[in-house]
Amino acid sequence: MKELGAYFQDIARRENIEYADIRIGYYRTQFLFLQDLSPKEINDEERMGFGIRVLYDGAWGFASSTKVEKAEIERVLKKAIEIAKASSLVKGEYRVKLAKEPVHVDRYAVPVEIDPFKVPVEEKIDLLYKVNDVMLKVKGIVKTYSHIEVRRRDQVFASTEGSLIETTIFTTNAGYTAFAVGNNDSQSRSFQDYPLNKGYEHIRSMKLLENAERIASEAVMKLYADEPDEALMDLVLDPAHLSLTIHESVGHPTELDRVLGYEANFAGRSFVTPEKLGNFRYGSPMVNFVADNTLPGGLATTGYDDEGVECQKWHIIKDGIFVDYSSTREVASILGFPRSRGSARADSFSSFPINRIPNLCLMPGKDPVTPEDLIAGVKKGVYIEGRGSFSIDQMRLNFQFGGDLFYEIKDGKKGRMLKNVIYQSITPQFWNSLDGVTDERFWEPRGFLTCGKGEPTQSAQMTNGAPYARFRNVKVGRGKR
Ligand SMILES: [Zn+2]
Repeated sequence: MKELGAYFQDIARRENIEYADIRIGYYRTQFLFLQDLSPKEINDEERMGFGIRVLYDGAWGFASSTKVEKAEIERVLKKAIEIAKASSLVKGEYRVKLAKEPVHVDRYAVPVEIDPFKVPVEEKIDLLYKVNDVMLKVKGIVKTYSHIEVRRRDQVFASTEGSLIETTIFTTNAGYTAFAVGNNDSQSRSFQDYPLNKGYEHIRSMKLLENAERIASEAVMKLYADEPDEALMDLVLDPAHLSLTIHESVGHPTELDRVLGYEANFAGRSFVTPEKLGNFRYGSPMVNFVADNTLPGGLATTGYDDEGVECQKWHIIKDGIFVDYSSTREVASILGFPRSRGSARADSFSSFPINRIPNLCLMPGKDPVTPEDLIAGVKKGVYIEGRGSFSIDQMRLNFQFGGDLFYEIKDGKKGRMLKNVIYQSITPQFWNSLDGVTDERFWEPRGFLTCGKGEPTQSAQMTNGAPYARFRNVKVGRGKR
């Protein structure tokens, strides 16, 4: 594939265009899904192809193909140029400009101990079967789901600027859910998905089977749990839960394309407008959000993004103050930033790269603090584990989050289990109410494989890591079921 990248550079440089790049990709995805004791989906898919972007007179053209060979690259390049020329006629005042990026000739591969595709499907199915079997034996459990997903992406990126980058990315994930019925109610509890860019060693270290009975028992306990009081109270949130709150209330609103109005789908625009850079108090002084696309195992740790920009580490929120966005070469240049933050990603060779959330993580505290310490400081509140449903408004300000497991906190101690808890807040108010985080021992790099964005919709993966954190005086209520 590397030779084809060099060939593309050769022919594209002869054209009368401003810029062009190619991504040649090979993708393999294995998805295994069991319902109860029967496999419902065993999918092993391979795809290959390439996509070409062309910049002509300040306008983009894009075309792709599944036929990876020289003559086809030549044909698709011509097509992309034609489209760019047509776009340039209707572009109006706006001209695409790209922020500068050094030329990179490099190879990056995610380090893996065990190639997840070399582990037999039978072994994976057997593990999921055992997990479901253990859960089904718990009285009150009526249905179980479990899944393993492993991915590999090989990509060559080549641009007319001279960058030629080869990457190999592995991603592994697993999770499961138990459904319980009884006491005139139905409830579920999940072993939360925990995707990382690692080999099969990650799946083996997750203790899937060891936790199956506990997860199923907690689903049954939820049937008999009480609903919460509706009042202002304190929250202690676990990393798996916080990953979603972070994703929706910090990750998406700090995507620069959204801020500039180039993206309005999927709740949609953003309140984090450019005049807030460097002065807006997003959260309390304990709130530090670091974007780190060099994080080992991080889902957006790919060496380089999909327009050849090197993966970086930077603050989005520092000591509570909003200081930077995620960006692509195009949107970075609109605000006059010297360099893109390397957040342009496409979900396939046939998709145009768009501005994506990086590995965006809430930093742990420096002092030794345990989850129990956070709970000990709460008179009346709720402890929440795992992700549930959520909603957020078009500017990403007003939101509501559920969760997967809830306990009452009373006089500094975890008490009875609760169910159907939701909390409501406004993004800056919520992050300003944070007054405690655990230290790095309790920090977890949770993340997402299916972040939807764009039109047509693309799916992306990124890590949103967090410690446990405490929030004061948040409006708690009962979720409709
Ligand atoms: Zn998302």
